[in-house]
Amino acid sequence: MPQTDKHQLLKHLPGVDHMLEKARQDNRFAAVPRQVLTGAIRTVLDDLRQAILAGRETGFDDTAVLLKTAALCRRKLAPNLVPLVNATGVVLHTNLGRALLCSDALANIQTIASAYSNLELNLSTGKRGLRYTAVEELICELTGAQAAMAVNNNAGAVLLALNTLAENTEVVVSRGELVEIGGSFRVPDVMVKSGCRLKEVGTTNRTHLKDYKNAVTDSTGLFLKVHASNYRIEGFTASVSLRELAYLGKTHQIPVMEDLGSGTLVDFSAYGLPAEPLVSDSVAAGADVVTFSGDKLLGGPQAGIIAGKKQAIDRIRANPLTRALRIDKLTLAALEATLRLYRDERQAVGEIPTLRMLTMSFEDTCKQAAVLEKLIQNVCTPRDTIELVDLESRPGGGSFPALTLPTRCVAIVPARMSVAALERSMRLSAPAIIARIENNRYILDPRTIQPGQETIISSTLETILATL
Ligand SMILES: *Cc1c(COP(=O)(O)O)cnc(C)c1O
Repeated sequence: MPQTDKHQLLKHLPGVDHMLEKARQDNRFAAVPRQVLTGAIRTVLDDLRQAILAGRETGFDDTAVLLKTAALCRRKLAPNLVPLVNATGVVLHTNLGRALLCSDALANIQTIASAYSNLELNLSTGKRGLRYTAVEELICELTGAQAAMAVNNNAGAVLLALNTLAENTEVVVSRGELVEIGGSFRVPDVMVKSGCRLKEVGTTNRTHLKDYKNAVTDSTGLFLKVHASNYRIEGFTASVSLRELAYLGKTHQIPVMEDLGSGTLVDFSAYGLPAEPLVSDSVAAGADVVTFSGDKLLGGPQAGIIAGKKQAIDRIRANPLTRALRIDKLTLAALEATLRLYRDERQAVGEIPTLRMLTMSFEDTCKQAAVLEKLIQNVCTPRDTIELVDLESRPGGGSFPALTLPTRCVAIVPARMSVAALERSMRLSAPAIIARIENNRYILDPRTIQPGQETIISSTLETILATL
């Protein structure tokens, strides 16, 4: 484009005030806050100027500018955090928000958030109370612990417990347990940030009680066990049980802590799943402190729960870091309501979405898959391939590392677009549908599709196919 043309176009660029005036007469902008509108107009005009200078723009008018501005305003006014459909079959999907809350938890958030509450007021004395009171008794009842508290998340719980119990001392850990959880949580790094010195013992596959015993010096402050959440060591292995370690700790007066990651309050082996460590077992084995996550297998809000002996918990509460990691009242409300359900295991498994999805039988996935298949067939053409295939769902969230859950999925191979293009279009729809591709088929796994979402999936698919 000749320079003169560029100059002509630049000269014709409207001013912000002119466009604001135009927008004022346009219904599309009636509900757009002025600040958003001004910002959008500026951006559109800036982009236009850049495009002209780069020779990419050959002509425009007010209508074109308004059209771009309207699209930008729509984007700016749409929420950023949006709900979506998880059809991946990964129950505790970290990128998709991990655990879904049960309805009691949601209701309690509403109740507690919309009124003043006794968050830190002891109603019997009229004096200041502790926010942990809302959940402490429940946690103790469900785990057998003497005392308990909750903080922002389990990473925070580990940091806090280590800092309180073992700052400036050596923490003895088996080499087989120096795990990385993902999202940059690595046990050795957390240890350093807690002000502790890591004393590795044993080997990757085998650690014996004598390894811990030989590591004890005057500087030893803590024995730490970490649950190997997201992997398994198999074959020629040996590890020291928490009970043995607790006994050793007692003889040397060294506290023992276990980070369970996703500890559970329900024995999953009763539901045909492998046993995951029960918090009550760790407490009974004699751990001074046990830490676990609120939104892994517990199926509650993001939180870190610290349970154990009263003396240790009292010390942790008194740590100034506790304030920096404190649990907020909405989380506390959700956590209390979720924990209450665990008093009746049948109720917990029936009402807590994470537990319901994990214990969903293969037969139930077959029924759901059949419903979904029918809906999808109705919106597809005979040339699209729709099949039922038996695959595996994954628990996710660093729980049950080696476990897969048998599931029946709906597999789609569209005739007129690629599987990758289908995945992309579904992901870019509103609401977004997130699913996986396996063997060049688009796979919808019913395990994590919530009741009622089947029709959202089929109508989204219908819309996408209609545009081809
Ligand atoms: C997941 C996990 C953590 C971190 O828990 P968050 O709740 O994600 O902060 C810490 N330790 C172990 C062993 C874990 O599995």
